[in-house]
Amino acid sequence: MSRAFYIGRFQPYHNGHQKVLRQIAKSVDEIVIGVGSAQMSHEIENPFTGGERVLMITTALDGLGCPFYVIPIEDIRRNALWVSHVRSLVPPFDILYSSNPLVIRLFREAGIPVNSPAMYERATHSGTEIRRRMLAGELWEELVPPAVAKVICEIDGVERLCQIACDD
Ligand code: ATP
Ligand code: MG
Repeated sequence: MSRAFYIGRFQPYHNGHQKVLRQIAKSVDEIVIGVGSAQMSHEIENPFTGGERVLMITTALDGLGCPFYVIPIEDIRRNALWVSHVRSLVPPFDILYSSNPLVIRLFREAGIPVNSPAMYERATHSGTEIRRRMLAGELWEELVPPAVAKVICEIDGVERLCQIACDD
């Protein structure tokens, strides 16, 4: 029985994340997905709530064929203690999948095996680029799973982002 852990902020969840998780699903029995900075929302870098991001991921991965858990994880702002914090909140796991250098470093130092998936079309498939496109009124829907575009539409996500980016 092997259980993988994958963590991100998912602001928003996009096709790069989806591609990696589909790959992981082929090589493990279960996946734990941590939604980092779960307490953050309504900011230009973090427009969506933890719950909205849980909804994006859960609906996008419907039918994955591998059991998965989506767990919100609040920040503690102490990197040296962060892996312990994460492990206190999620089901036990055997391996971390991440391409984020700090995340890799912290888990390696804690003695947890790490696998680094290749990046998928990173120039376009990044949360930063998707939020930029939303603010610029450019097309972004093609970069996220259809279920995620639906959630963002239902919560008026683009309007929220544009409004909080305005000056008063
Ligand atoms: P942001 O630009 O807001 O940081 P992001 O696209 O990097 O967003 P994160 O939520 O920060 O998304 O990343 C979660 C995990 O997904 C990290 O391990 C990150 O390296 C990985 N990841 C991000 N984009 C891709 C991609 N295009 N292909 C594969 N993995 C990706
Ligand atoms: Mg990132």
